[in-house]
Amino acid sequence: MKILVVGSVAYDAVETPAGKRESQLGGAATYFSVAASYFTEVGMIGVVGDDFDPADIAMLESHDIDISGLIKADGKTFRWTGEYMEDINTAVTLDTQLNVFGSFEPELSDAHANAPYLFLANIDPNLQLKVLDAMANRPKMVANDTMNLWIDIAKPALSELISKVDALLINEEEAKQLTGEDHLPDAASAITGMGPSSTVIKRGEYGATLFGENFSFAAPAYPLERVVDPTGAGDSFAGGFMGYLASVDKVDQESLRTAAIVGSTMASFAVEDFGLDRTKNLTHSDIAERFEAFVDLTRFNPLT
Ligand code: AMP
Repeated sequence: MKILVVGSVAYDAVETPAGKRESQLGGAATYFSVAASYFTEVGMIGVVGDDFDPADIAMLESHDIDISGLIKADGKTFRWTGEYMEDINTAVTLDTQLNVFGSFEPELSDAHANAPYLFLANIDPNLQLKVLDAMANRPKMVANDTMNLWIDIAKPALSELISKVDALLINEEEAKQLTGEDHLPDAASAITGMGPSSTVIKRGEYGATLFGENFSFAAPAYPLERVVDPTGAGDSFAGGFMGYLASVDKVDQESLRTAAIVGSTMASFAVEDFGLDRTKNLTHSDIAERFEAFVDLTRFNPLT
């Protein structure tokens, strides 16, 4: 197993200007795993309830995702209700029900604990810390994501976690909330001061900016005519980003730059339809074609 991920596995109720879904498969770890599965071997750590649909298990298995760490517990699956009605770039959370995640204790097999890449997707930072602590060896790269709820209610654990990771992937608004800085480069340098050597600040339709060691890189978002459902864009970005790094097994500057474009490629598919409807049905040539479109989108000659 190349990448281990822990994070929410959810049923989401989502409303966007394109329509409404009452209960669609979602969760940060789910979007991440499906996106990363096109590049490398992924294993998930998480918990679902007894309401979890066997068809969703089958979909994860069809992507060769190792779900031996996805436990089934008595109770309901994590549930998030959100909308994007005012601003398509900003999720407004209407309700969060942790359900079976409230009492989840992660258990890692040897294969999980020896994964060389670890992604701590959005979930309670105390849980993210437990998984990091349970690794047999320090992975080659550890990255995490988070969101406003955890900044509000679990900031000490989140700060401890951020001090231990190599990369933080975070939304612009949340980066500002976390650091108290209003200006993007100031927020990024405050995050660097907390520990990570790389920070990816995600900005919805404006793309993502990677602040690395002595360099920064701007990845645009693909200019789609119609965004159907932005849910999971950030996690799909992370899945492409980490999936690519794990597949080349390098975390140098050039690889990080390419990874940011692979991340943008996967995020662009995520928003084209509700939930995982587009991302779960991709082919490798769909991905290669969209990646090439990014090369074209950002190609320019030097001044002579
Ligand atoms: P994003 O990629 O940022 O759009 O993440 C979307 C996913 O995050 C949704 O599928 C939700 O189930 C999940 N989510 C929402 N709130 C939380 C939370 N507080 N902790 C963990 N996951 C969450």
